[in-house]
Amino acid sequence: QSVLVTGASGFIARHVLLQLLERGYRVRGSLRTPAKAEAIRKDLRAHLGDPALADTALDFVTLDLTADAGWPEALAGMDALIHTASPFPLSQPRDPQVLIRPAVEGTRRALEAALAAGVDRVVLTSSVAAVLTSAPLDRAAPRTEADWTDPDHPATTPYGASKTLAERAAWAIAAAHPALKLTTVNPGMVMGAPLGTEFGSSVGLVRRMMRGGDPALPRMVFDVVDVTDVARMHVAALETPATIGERLICSAGPMWMPEMGAALKKAYPDRRIPTRVAPYWLLWLIARFDPALRSVLPICGQHMVSDAGHARRLLDFRFVPPERALL
Ligand code: NDP
Repeated sequence: QSVLVTGASGFIARHVLLQLLERGYRVRGSLRTPAKAEAIRKDLRAHLGDPALADTALDFVTLDLTADAGWPEALAGMDALIHTASPFPLSQPRDPQVLIRPAVEGTRRALEAALAAGVDRVVLTSSVAAVLTSAPLDRAAPRTEADWTDPDHPATTPYGASKTLAERAAWAIAAAHPALKLTTVNPGMVMGAPLGTEFGSSVGLVRRMMRGGDPALPRMVFDVVDVTDVARMHVAALETPATIGERLICSAGPMWMPEMGAALKKAYPDRRIPTRVAPYWLLWLIARFDPALRSVLPICGQHMVSDAGHARRLLDFRFVPPERALL
């Protein structure tokens, strides 16, 4: 079985590559910067049971989410597509289209190229960002796969809108093409060890806490999940026909940011890690100068969490506990 994994340089995608190779798949990774290929092979060799697989069972192609070139060739001869590539910056751009356009266009390109090449099995990396943000924000009951982010809600970030609209586009294509067997994996904030020196924005947030530059933390809650579990759920989804047509929330459980700070401080007592809760008035003041904080201010203090029970039951899945994923 052969699988195209888009965005192969990504934090999550590298773990997907590793697990697919370990399970005997032939893997093709797509990159927009071909020069990254050798570093990825090197990082995989260091973790594979059989390091030779990074050369014999893996090849790379060059693809950009915003350009047509290369997609038909990339999907030729593949059995399945795992589409992970999507822009995920730590701070939000002023113009939401900077994220929405590549996310939505890229998803359409990937799925349409898959259909044209006769590849009918697709697992898409969506997010709880496509689940959590709809009125009323503060709800006692966790959100489930039945919930959708409202891209026009004032608390929806440009990133949240990009993930929601991209996932919507994927389901619209699946509805128009019943032959397409689509599953989405919707991870919470992904923690854990990066494979190599590149890591995405979620681990970047932990690094920011570890550096101790912030005096206090906003009272924000995140669904936390370990990157190895996220990769494992992608592979399990691919291999489990019962997940076709399903959204799978991928979260080990919620943690509030000050709770994360406290867990990190307990593990690294010598470091200056913030644990105090930043008062709302202070956040409001800082947000006037800090666009990253401004975009998340509306969700500070809101109980916005999701429930991965459906995915757990469907896949008989056990998660690494959130605190262990963080450390
Ligand atoms: P990374 O930033 O590590 O990976 C993003 C990947 O997308 C990179 O390979 C990047 O390539 C690629 N990419 C971005 N823009 C383009 C483009 N225009 N054309 C081609 N490739 C592009 O992030 P993660 O691994 O964390 O995220 C991977 C996926 O998981 C994304 O879809 C993200 O939305 C989703 N996700 C992540 C969560 C998290 O907490 N980490 C939570 C929920 C969902 P390049 O290396 O060239 O920049």
